[in-house]
Amino acid sequence: MSIEFSGGMADDERIVSSRQLQDDETETSLRPKTMAEYIGQAKAKENLAVFIEAARRRGEPLDHTLLYGPPGLGKTTLANIIANEMGVNIRITSGPAIEKAGDLAALLTNLSENDILFIDEIHRLNRSVEEILYPAMEDYALDIIIGKGPSARSIRLDLPKFTLIGATTRAGQMTSPLRDRFGVMLRLELYGPEELCEIVARSAGILDVACEPEGALEIARRARGTPRIANRLLRRVRDFAQVRGEGVIDRATADRALLALEIDALGLDNIDRRMLESIVRNYSGGPVGLETLAATIGEEAVTLEDVYEPYLMQIGFLTRTPRGRCVTPRVYEHLGIVPADGQDQLHL
Ligand code: ADP
Repeated sequence: MSIEFSGGMADDERIVSSRQLQDDETETSLRPKTMAEYIGQAKAKENLAVFIEAARRRGEPLDHTLLYGPPGLGKTTLANIIANEMGVNIRITSGPAIEKAGDLAALLTNLSENDILFIDEIHRLNRSVEEILYPAMEDYALDIIIGKGPSARSIRLDLPKFTLIGATTRAGQMTSPLRDRFGVMLRLELYGPEELCEIVARSAGILDVACEPEGALEIARRARGTPRIANRLLRRVRDFAQVRGEGVIDRATADRALLALEIDALGLDNIDRRMLESIVRNYSGGPVGLETLAATIGEEAVTLEDVYEPYLMQIGFLTRTPRGRCVTPRVYEHLGIVPADGQDQLHL
């Protein structure tokens, strides 16, 4: 039997997408502004606190910092907090937004001493732009070529001392000359249910909606380890609570709302379930190549790797092998599928 994916839904239409969607407009108001409000990521926070304190005592900018990890884990938020704690300005841009070397030169020359330049999706910078960054990061200098042909000459402009904070979902895709120029590299991890529960409770307070601890935990469990998804689910559950309930988010309301949104107990939606089912039924549980799998759900391979897979791997549903992706016995259990003959080595 083969599983059909009719009129595939792109990741940017999914409620459980970890990428920013159009209806995430309240995100700014929910953003923690200080390190104390930033929940979880203990290791990254602990390291950063030391680096920030040291830089402040020396009266110098913070070392160039690279934040990496899946979307929605708080990289942009953390960059803003760093600026706040350092008491400096932050300019925010992204790799794809900087098209020409001149765009970056304009950004750099407009910085003040100790400012932060935040470049999201830094792995998507194009090569000619990236080359401007090397001397800027290393020597706070901008090399400009004046004129063309044989009479062209290069002059060097001094830049203010600044901090570059880069964010990326895929540090492995950055060129090594760029990666090597970051003094600090911090990896953000998926959040545990207790941390997400705290985030949901905090956001509910800001949104002024009554949320019982059990209700917050139910949302947290289904948020795929990602604060952005937790906040989005909270808003949807709030709508249910206000229209169908008493306006209070308790466990039953959260459960009912999330089921109505077709998000199961582990936070998987229809697309995840169909993808997993397809590996089970069409590829006998795997291995199946990344590209093939991406084509089955009508997504690009990078989206599959960045957005779908981290959580499925964290909950032990998917493994990466040199020959492709495989599902684990837990998937059969979750989907209620009995393994076919020859697969009883799965030890269900
Ligand atoms: P990224 O840049 O990694 O894609 P963001 O920084 O935009 O993620 O975070 C998405 C949303 O998640 C933010 O608006 C914020 O409300 C919330 N968030 C992220 N990290 C935390 C955290 N540690 N504590 C509380 N809320 C968080």
